[in-house]
Amino acid sequence: MNEAFIGLGSNLETPLAQLKQALIQLEQHSDISELAVSSFYGSKPVGPQDQPDFINAVAKIKTSLAPIPLLDLLQSIEQNQRRVRERHWGPRTLDLDLLRYNNEKIDMERLIVPHRFMLERGFVIKPMADLAPDLILENGSTVMQHLSTLDTSDLVLL
Ligand code: ATP
Ligand code: CA
Ligand code: CA
Repeated sequence: MNEAFIGLGSNLETPLAQLKQALIQLEQHSDISELAVSSFYGSKPVGPQDQPDFINAVAKIKTSLAPIPLLDLLQSIEQNQRRVRERHWGPRTLDLDLLRYNNEKIDMERLIVPHRFMLERGFVIKPMADLAPDLILENGSTVMQHLSTLDTSDLVLL
């Protein structure tokens, strides 16, 4: 079994319901077991500010899926929830990012793991700290230590 962390985000069409629906899709998948989910957080958008705030969470799963099939699954769940994406870092009904896959480094055209920007994002690291405070990140810090270096003043615990 492999352990993976998935970042969830939404800022359109009842975001909390979007996240919960995505979590149900993951939990019910036959190749995923042991889903654990962080608290939910409200956050300010990255990039363009003329869009609604986001809701973010992180899920930890155990899965028999290899990384690319897991990415395919995440993208199919995004499509099921009619993700529309018109501009870079713009609003979306659902965003599912593969944050980590075991301790692996993956550098492919479609998939870079650990996720490129996760270390700089409080809305990823804060929920991750709910699930795995002592996990060692690629920079050698634990999630909790790294969290203390980030500005999380924009995050609201829901
Ligand atoms: P960001 O990557 O800054 O969070 P985003 O989530 O808005 O931005 P998307 O439009 O959702 O970006 O994804 C663009 C592409 O990123 C996808 O087509 C996917 O193939 C690729 N990608 C690379 N690494 C990952 C990863 N770890 N998780 C999800 N997608 C990834
Ligand atoms: Ca994404
Ligand atoms: Ca993203």
